[in-house]
Amino acid sequence: MEKMDLKSLTLAEMTQWVSELGLKPFRAGQIFAWLYRPGFDDFARMTDIAKHVRALLAEKATISRLEAVKEERSTDGTVKFAFRLADGHLIESVLIPEEDRHTLCVSSQVGCAMGCNFCLTGTMGFKRNLTVAEIVGQVDSTLLWLQRQAGAGEGETSPRINNLVFMGMGEPLLNFDNLIRAIQILMEQRGHDFSGRRITVSTCGIVPKMKELGEKVPVNLAVSLHAADDETRDLLMPINRTYPLEELLRACREFPLPPRRRIMIEYAMLKGINDSAAAARLLVKKLHGIRCKINILPYNETPSFPYRRPDDETIEAFRQILRKAGHTTLLRTSRGADISAACGQLAGEKE
Ligand code: SAH
Ligand code: SF4
Repeated sequence: MEKMDLKSLTLAEMTQWVSELGLKPFRAGQIFAWLYRPGFDDFARMTDIAKHVRALLAEKATISRLEAVKEERSTDGTVKFAFRLADGHLIESVLIPEEDRHTLCVSSQVGCAMGCNFCLTGTMGFKRNLTVAEIVGQVDSTLLWLQRQAGAGEGETSPRINNLVFMGMGEPLLNFDNLIRAIQILMEQRGHDFSGRRITVSTCGIVPKMKELGEKVPVNLAVSLHAADDETRDLLMPINRTYPLEELLRACREFPLPPRRRIMIEYAMLKGINDSAAAARLLVKKLHGIRCKINILPYNETPSFPYRRPDDETIEAFRQILRKAGHTTLLRTSRGADISAACGQLAGEKE
């Protein structure tokens, strides 16, 4: 019988699994607490668990770990990790330090099937969904790395990851079940104990799954809108032909937002495509009644695509129109562009 990878189980699933082994349900909580300590991979070290139980666990289960095969550091402090998966595929995660906090950008799929025509990940095509353990493993491995960097010994307080964003490779809502289970594991108090308000899931607009996401886990939603009219959005993002703007905006209105939270509208600004004053005014109109804030991402240029970043004045003028209309509008400065770690530059298997 194949061994169970304990990193693929939510606490509820682990409780079930230990009962099937004839163990008391509370063992699941104990195991869980060990499992998510940085670098933990040895049943023998579960000192509060009886020896014969540890032996049984070692016989029936494994603890997987994602190994970073490459680590690149940007001049601005951003670090991009490449992880090799058991079947040879590569995925990437990006650690972004900001003042006293760390944001980790994680991948949900190898490649992406959505084919947005400005995004490098899109050019890879879709290879496969990540497993639950592969999603959670990106966080575990990064935490271990942070701890080693800080030179913190075991048990000492080590650096934390403050925010998790599902903005790496892939479309998270098309790997829905694994995404939800991974988030449940990451939020488990006995483990990483992430609060839902520190987790953001970004989608290109998989309308039928948006509400369900909000109902299952109290995370933040980011929507890659990038255009306020169907004609432009059809051109940039093929998914718009399946779920056009009106349906996407309705799904935003119906998203079960926790109190005091807002949807993040992502708007990549492309020169001459979606950066005019008229486009800004249309965006204001379309977002009417949606509790949101807007994040402008000036396009990160790549040689693969003809798109260009607008000049600073154009970006600022666009932003002012949104601000005057009452929208909180952030300008996301590009991080890690020199190591291809910026938004839309992740493409692990493209040489
Ligand atoms: N598939 C999800 C998650 C990826 S998030 C989604 O599309 O929302 C990555 C974000 O970066 C998306 O908003 C994407 O549209 C944006 N992006 C992709 N390529 C980019 C580029 N070259 N410059 C700026 N933003 C880009
Ligand atoms: Fe996929 Fe998102 Fe890139 Fe579109 S923008 S191709 S959905 S990763």
